Amino acid sequence: MTYADPPLRHSSWLPPLRFLQRYPHFLEVAYDLTHNMLKPFRRWLKRGGAVERVFIPLEAVSKGVIFDCRMCGQCVLHSTGMTCPQTCPKNLRNGPCGGVRANGHCEVIPEIKCVWAEAWDRSKRMPAYGKEILQLNPPTNRSLRGTSAWINDFTGDGKKTPMGWGLDSKP
Ligand code: SF4
Repeated sequence: MTYADPPLRHSSWLPPLRFLQRYPHFLEVAYDLTHNMLKPFRRWLKRGGAVERVFIPLEAVSKGVIFDCRMCGQCVLHSTGMTCPQTCPKNLRNGPCGGVRANGHCEVIPEIKCVWAEAWDRSKRMPAYGKEILQLNPPTNRSLRGTSAWINDFTGDGKKTPMGWGLDSKP
C-alpha cells in the first residue's frame, strides 16, 4: 500500500506544529526514543503489511504537521537539521542551489528562508546527529514515494538507491 498522492501541504484541520523545528535537539531525542521503541517490533515492520497500512496515515499526519513531510519514503530528517529537504522547491537533497538570496531566502519563493539555510542553522543545535549534514545523501528512490519511511528504515529499503545510482546498488 502506498500513500499514492500525498498532499503538498499538511491537513488544514490540524494545527501546524512547525514551531517544534525550533527545538532540533528535542526532535533528535524524540527520533532516538521512537526508533528504540520500535526496535522490539521490527519483525512486524514489513512493507505491504497491516502495520504499514496504519503507519502511512499516522506518519503523513504526524510528520506533516511538524515537518511539512512530503512522504518521500526515505527520511533523512536527522541528517538535515530536522528540516525536510523535500520542502525545498527544487527538492535538493544535498545542500542549497546557487540561487540563495543575499538575505538567506529562497530563489524560487522569496518569502521563505532557504530550506538549506534553516537546515544548516538547526544542525548546529543537534549534538547527536548535527554532523551528518556534511554527509552526501543519495538521490531519492521515487518508487518509495508514499510508503512509510519508518518501516523502510527498519527493512533497509530506505537506504537502498535505484540501480545505477552507484552508492549501494550495483549497476
Ligand atoms: S525526508 Fe521524506 S519522509 Fe522525511 S519528512 Fe521529508 S518527505 Fe517526509
